[in-house]
Amino acid sequence: MSGSFIEISEVGPRDGLQSISPIMPTEAKKAWIAAEAAAGVREIEVGSFVPAKILPQLADTAELVAFARTIPGLTVAVLVPNLKGAEAAVAAGAHKITIPLSVSETHSLRNVRRTHAQMLEETAAIAALIQAQPEGRRPKFEGGLSTAFGCTLEGVVPEAKVLEIAEALMKAGCDEVGLSDTTGYANPAQVKRLIRAVRSVVGDHACAGVHLHNTRGLGLANALAALDEGITTLDASLGGIGGCPFAPGASGNIVTEDLAFMLAAMGYETGVDLEKLLAVRDVVKAALPDTELYGFTPDAGLPKGFSGAWGL
Ligand code: ZN
Repeated sequence: MSGSFIEISEVGPRDGLQSISPIMPTEAKKAWIAAEAAAGVREIEVGSFVPAKILPQLADTAELVAFARTIPGLTVAVLVPNLKGAEAAVAAGAHKITIPLSVSETHSLRNVRRTHAQMLEETAAIAALIQAQPEGRRPKFEGGLSTAFGCTLEGVVPEAKVLEIAEALMKAGCDEVGLSDTTGYANPAQVKRLIRAVRSVVGDHACAGVHLHNTRGLGLANALAALDEGITTLDASLGGIGGCPFAPGASGNIVTEDLAFMLAAMGYETGVDLEKLLAVRDVVKAALPDTELYGFTPDAGLPKGFSGAWGL
């Protein structure tokens, strides 16, 4: 609804960079994070605590968490695949930790070589680790429902399975669950249906965010569907870095600049200064000259006289 606050969670430094082969130098990542925070983005997923031999692009995550923590008002988010990653995330001082759990068990086995039961055990162990931290130093803990809208290996992912895993993640000690369209299969009707269904199981407050990809060009339509259902956190990636090699022209995550423009034009508050946000692309381009950046708003520019809440 116009006037309410929507959190744009920038995931480019994690989801975007893990999907491309060039390794962005740590100093460039810091410049990106600093510039985007200065543009008003309040939550940034700065990396993932996975072994460097698996994802060398994200080997500097601990250093980035330490750096990002020095930026006032910024929520520093990270991904962890297991307890070991969570230990590193807690030690580094991350404010928010997400463990992705593939609703498609085939995908889970292929990706992290773990069954659902094993992942839920890992989740419970992480929840215990967080609870053991002194009050005020406990990161927020999110369970990410990966492949919730379909899987490249299994195809259709049954809604009942999504609900079962959502409930199990909450029982294992997550503070909330997020719906993740890992494969870019989602459509707006499905987004609405699944948000309602998951909320009926875990409660509205415990399902507040969605993670969308633009693989088939439905990213912003899906974002709008999520907004209509009352979702208040939307993941996006600057320049939509990490496009799908099988869908030329399709960005990876939904493009932060286009999302921020849509939200501002509709009268939502995001805290983002669009001109400053568009300028952050230069920082990323300078460090990744051969990587394609996506987005329509950056090319077209803001409408003449644009100051948000367009036509209201
Ligand atoms: Zn993703």
